[in-house]
Amino acid sequence: MTKLILAIDQGTTSSRAIAFEVCEDKSLKSVAISQIELAQHFPHSGWVEHDAAEIWSATLQTCREVVRKAGGINRFAAIGITNQRETAVLWDRATGEPLHRAIVWQDRRTADVSARMMQDGHEPRVQAATGLILDPYFSATKFAWLLDAVPGARDRAARGEVLLGTIDSWLVWKLTNGASHVTDATNASRTSLMDLKTVAWRDDLLDLFKVPKAALPRIVGCAEVSGHSDPALFGAALPIAGSAGDQQSALVGHGALNPGDAKITYGTGAFLVANVGAEPVASSSRLLGTLGYSVNGVAAYALEGSIFSAGSAIQWLRDGVGMISDSRQSEAMAQGLKDNGGVYLVPGFTGLGAPWWEPDARGAVIGLTRDSGPAHFVRAALEALAYQTRDLLDALAADGAPRLKVLKVDGGVTANAFAMQFVADICQVTVERPAFQEMTALGAAKLAALGVGLIEDLDAHVTEAPAVWTPRMDAAERDRLLKGWRKAVQAAIVAAN
Ligand code: ADP
Repeated sequence: MTKLILAIDQGTTSSRAIAFEVCEDKSLKSVAISQIELAQHFPHSGWVEHDAAEIWSATLQTCREVVRKAGGINRFAAIGITNQRETAVLWDRATGEPLHRAIVWQDRRTADVSARMMQDGHEPRVQAATGLILDPYFSATKFAWLLDAVPGARDRAARGEVLLGTIDSWLVWKLTNGASHVTDATNASRTSLMDLKTVAWRDDLLDLFKVPKAALPRIVGCAEVSGHSDPALFGAALPIAGSAGDQQSALVGHGALNPGDAKITYGTGAFLVANVGAEPVASSSRLLGTLGYSVNGVAAYALEGSIFSAGSAIQWLRDGVGMISDSRQSEAMAQGLKDNGGVYLVPGFTGLGAPWWEPDARGAVIGLTRDSGPAHFVRAALEALAYQTRDLLDALAADGAPRLKVLKVDGGVTANAFAMQFVADICQVTVERPAFQEMTALGAAKLAALGVGLIEDLDAHVTEAPAVWTPRMDAAERDRLLKGWRKAVQAAIVAAN
């Protein structure tokens, strides 16, 4: 009888559960899915919160539905978890109830704390130890904020009466009915508290960020049994055998397991994670150093960079300026032009990330003539995806990362064949889109299957052939386009200052 893995994908906008069958040939196939949307709370400008109790109840409900759909608990061998990263939860050890709403990764409330630490000159030390820059994005300042905001929490934390964790910790704690307080190494690598080399909490950083060790989870590997689910939840206990943060889980899902493999998820924004091998690479381009995964004590390191506006530029053309009525139209409109007509769109709606790091930059369109029409805007928005990807890949190369072999892609925008070909052309790299798109959940399922020995390694195990785009643009054309893009970026930066 084939065995199933229950993969929990706890994301920013929804909680999902997917049952994966581990087939005879060791490939994984999804057989059932359930999803529940998650309420977003915006109590002040720049603040974003989730209700951790709602996250738990939605997780439980989707898991129960998937177990039922897939034929009952006895068919399952293990649970794997992947989650929105950096989001911080504080809860009461005795009651199991959250003591505050969870602070979501996007939340900027601790910007002043990070800025002060930056002024005090702490960034080089933090970056050298953790791979991360100083930014409110990461969990440590959020943990400290929670301890200060909830009356008595600091004192109780020192006594181990209240607990801190990211969403993976919270879910494991609830699933095991309080028996396991753990976090996997990839989630821990996003807190600013973990030493990237030793994969352990660092006392000097715990002091700097004012987070007591007594309240923190134990760090575990990504494919090891860290606890068993309470039998009361699903009718039988299941080992929790795999866990990784969402972007790292997608890296594993794609099978980007060797130095030089990379994946980029093109959704609202875009997240690039590049496998750099067995040693961390220090970035001088302000990419993030992070853990790709840690399995059986062996770590694969990664560099990460994000594009703030990717698919959101297409959303803006649709919802903001009404040049298209459906995102899918964008492909034919772009293809309908013989070239970009010299029009570039810099989607700096919320500033520009790596390698520009201009938080105050804003969007710009340059090169308009009387011939320019909606199709030029659409084409320029799609081309911008490729130029921004190229900027990230150039930053990777400047950091001495291994040469990129293939770029694996997923996310809503990858439905657009024009954009994917353009990425291949501008980045001079082969682009591969798997036939099965749920790379994040697949990664967690693979880790859990490995954790209980149903598979022997994390290799891709893909059965259906991917869609592939190979570079075909000539060098002169590419250089001309990149020159135009760089001028456009400078214009966006100059206009903002
Ligand atoms: P997220 O997980 O960030 O919500 P998705 O992976 O669901 O994002 O992708 C949604 C994004 O993809 C939207 O920004 C949308 O504009 C874009 N998108 C969807 N289909 C297309 C298409 N055919 N061409 C270009 N962009 C698209």
